[in-house]
Amino acid sequence: MDDIKYIFVTGGVSSSLGKGIIAASLAKLLQARGFRVTIQKLDPYINIDPGTLNPYEHGECYVTEDGAETDLDLGHYERFLNSPTSQANNVTTGRIYQSVIEKERRGEFLGKTVQVVPHITNEIKERIQILGKTGDYDIVITEIGGTVGDIESLPYIEAVRQMKWELGDDNALVIHLTFVPYLSAAGELKTKPTQHSVKTLMESGIRADILVCRTEHELSDDLRKKLALFCNVKKEAVIQSIDASTIYDVPNMMLEEGLDTVTLKKLNLTATKEPDLTHWNEFLQRHKNPKAEVRIGLIGKYVELQDSYKSILEAFIHAGAENEVRVKLEFIHSEHINAKTIGAKLAKLDGILVAPGFGERGIEGKMAAVKYARTNNLPFLGICLGMQLAVIEFARNVLNLKDANSTELDPLTPDPVVNLMEEQKSITALGGTMRLGAWKCVLKKDSLAYKVYQSEEIEERHRHRFEFNNDYLEKFETHGMMASGVNPESKLVEIVEIPDHPWFMGVQYHPEYKSTVAQPHPLFVAFVKAVHEHAKTTKEIN
Ligand code: GLN
Repeated sequence: MDDIKYIFVTGGVSSSLGKGIIAASLAKLLQARGFRVTIQKLDPYINIDPGTLNPYEHGECYVTEDGAETDLDLGHYERFLNSPTSQANNVTTGRIYQSVIEKERRGEFLGKTVQVVPHITNEIKERIQILGKTGDYDIVITEIGGTVGDIESLPYIEAVRQMKWELGDDNALVIHLTFVPYLSAAGELKTKPTQHSVKTLMESGIRADILVCRTEHELSDDLRKKLALFCNVKKEAVIQSIDASTIYDVPNMMLEEGLDTVTLKKLNLTATKEPDLTHWNEFLQRHKNPKAEVRIGLIGKYVELQDSYKSILEAFIHAGAENEVRVKLEFIHSEHINAKTIGAKLAKLDGILVAPGFGERGIEGKMAAVKYARTNNLPFLGICLGMQLAVIEFARNVLNLKDANSTELDPLTPDPVVNLMEEQKSITALGGTMRLGAWKCVLKKDSLAYKVYQSEEIEERHRHRFEFNNDYLEKFETHGMMASGVNPESKLVEIVEIPDHPWFMGVQYHPEYKSTVAQPHPLFVAFVKAVHEHAKTTKEIN
């Protein structure tokens, strides 16, 4: 326990400054120096997890191997570190209170009055140390969601104060991320909001050890001195985080600013080597120097907020770099696709991805996009709902089951080609009740899926309730849609493909969650390759 170092990342002045990326970048640098690092996110909202949140609220819900529905920052942690996170890596206020209240009901507090301090704060401290106590890590980085001064952040800040006091300055460190705005009228960067935010932190008994300052302009030496003096930190601990063209530049920028060296110094740690970012930089090199460009249409209903499809966008960045092509994603609102608009909307695309989703809105547009890809031999990838719609479209237009549907979209359909699993039928609660997390899938040897994965058995992460209805399987297979991946125990269909089509695949799971910089997902890599091939042939014809 004594050997484990805890780093806390708090935020001030404004939200959306990129705490998650700073935490992930520091973790990357420490990992690249040989330390075993993990990152945890504490979210100050009362939902038990973000699973029940509309994507417009907080963006995508990220799913871990163990089936936790979590904040999208965990996706960044995995993509940067290439190591899996788990339920323990994301804790919300709702979960903290639920656990304390359950303990109270079991009588575990022995008649005491249960209070925010010490009971809630103790629970927070315990949750922070769960990862440390596994023995798997040298350093645990805990990102505190929200902004200091928020009412709901207070118990977390108090827990951090106590942990710093208990563990000592060598074992716990606070990094405070703030914003240094540029006032164009004055032609100056302003430090006052940062000073106030550090003061707010101080009022809660926490002195920031390191300041990371988000800025649109370089911080001068004088400004760094001023920030150091007024915010009570060493000058070397004033770190500039200037806007980057890609989040994948941030580890190098932090390296240049010395964020890792000042962190190690404060924690009294000696690194045995300089950070090895060779592989990372090779990826960056490929990402920034593409040899061609392809256009992929992302058909979804949350396209106004790109964070809703965060992992998909990042998976395309990894796969694009692997193929040395730039993937230009065209976000197409499924509600805007109809018989009249479809030609104009989809004509210039080299490939189509139909996104995951829930509920009826925009379904017909997505279905039209599937049909367009199928009948025009355009490379197609359907993810989760996208796969289910590929199945429904095939049933309607190839099997001639005109009213085929999913029971999610039409409970009374005569042909429920996608329906609820038996064990889901009695469930009425919405939170945490889906088929979640990693499940095995066995691939058919003579399939596109096998070619893509080069393996007979894979494991992919799920987040859905509805499934391909196996009563129809034979009919689909005799008419040209093949179930190329199946769960070995339940026999649930995980992958469908059309062997007569150049590249058409629907997957019931979410491959995007497993794509990382170090290991771009093979399905995205193969899809982008197929899209590129298609683009080359159509350009020749034209
Ligand atoms: N709504 C569908 C289901 O619950 C698909 C979910 C998804 O796309 N993640 O099965």
